[in-house]
Amino acid sequence: MSWAVGVLRAGRRVEAARVNFLYPWKALCPRQPAGIPLPGTWPVALAAGMATVKRELIKNFTSEQAVRHNKVSIIGTGSVGMACAVSILLKGLTDELALVDADEDRLKGETMDLQHGSPFVKMPTIASSKDYRVTADSNLVVITAGVRQEKGETRLDLVQRNVAIFKLMISNIIRYSPHCKLIVVSNPVDILTYVAWKLSEFPQHRIIGSGCNLDTARFRFLIGQKLGIHSESCHGWVLGEHGDSSVPVWSGVNIAGVPLKDLNSDIGTDKDPEKWKNIHCGVIASAYEIIKMKGYTNWAIGLSVADLTESILRNLRRVHPVSTIIKGVYGINEEVFLSVPCVLGESGIADLIKVKLSPEEQSHLKKSAETLWEIQKELKL
Ligand code: NAD
Repeated sequence: MSWAVGVLRAGRRVEAARVNFLYPWKALCPRQPAGIPLPGTWPVALAAGMATVKRELIKNFTSEQAVRHNKVSIIGTGSVGMACAVSILLKGLTDELALVDADEDRLKGETMDLQHGSPFVKMPTIASSKDYRVTADSNLVVITAGVRQEKGETRLDLVQRNVAIFKLMISNIIRYSPHCKLIVVSNPVDILTYVAWKLSEFPQHRIIGSGCNLDTARFRFLIGQKLGIHSESCHGWVLGEHGDSSVPVWSGVNIAGVPLKDLNSDIGTDKDPEKWKNIHCGVIASAYEIIKMKGYTNWAIGLSVADLTESILRNLRRVHPVSTIIKGVYGINEEVFLSVPCVLGESGIADLIKVKLSPEEQSHLKKSAETLWEIQKELKL
């Protein structure tokens, strides 16, 4: 199917919501020279049978609607949403990408800018609108929209403001894509994944929080830097709550199957003369450092979300540290979402891997669960 036909179909699908910013020059130069159709305009206004370049060039065989198998929608086209979009596009994972944002100008600008790169990547149809109809029949929806913490605002107040946004967002997503999988990225990610689960009433396997996927990537990168080995060959997991109270599982850190704990029994503890613990401190500090320097973080989270997307859309059954409901594991009794290694495939989270944790690591996880529950139980959903 040609790109142009794809765009036409996408345009038809979102007809009622059509803002048509695909062809902004229509508004800029409405009086085109007679007989020269502007690029991207369709010859519907021309008399039937009148010759056009398009009609002369193309013999059409079908007007069937394309069946989408790998449609991805991204809600929120801020720095994180667009990094997710670009990373997913560059991996060639989707046959249609839909973008939604409340800020129409930003959405238009980002969509046009992205589309203009189409000669350089195998870009599928990109449709965007404020109206969630554009997301219809998505296989996967990535949520990156949300509001930022304001000065003096408590965490609970921030979450409650995001709950208000999520109420509208989730009801619209499930209305148009009742069978989709959801990846929640917006912060505080573990709590908002719980909120998305409650509001959507989806089965738990279709609700995925990006959780410690990014923390683990940072951990592996920093270990790689210390050893002079590529991060892909540095194996280790950061679990629990995304951010400050995440738990590095030092017992599992290994290179080529060699556990670093066998070489340094104090690794990750205060007794360790090599101070490997600083690696995890670096993981926590890096978000603050980057935000201080450039105002936000986006590239690593975008790439990590594309990695999760690949496992789901290609049914790879790879294991990722993502946030899932953890009740009944590690002595946790509350309905909270924390990151543990999960098998991701076409159904979403297919399985959870029960990692053996030290009593200290387990109590850390339990404490995070209690802290999250203290906030969650106050939420007005
Ligand atoms: P941003 O402010 O650049 O973008 C947020 C976007 O959401 C904006 O474009 C805004 O218009 C849109 N938006 C707000 N309310 C909306 C609504 N009701 N409907 C649709 N769109 C709406 O922020 P960002 O830097 O892109 O970050 C997005 C989120 O991702 C934040 O919550 C951030 O903390 C989080 N984040 C998470 C991780 C992680 O590892 N989980 C990493 C980085 C950032």
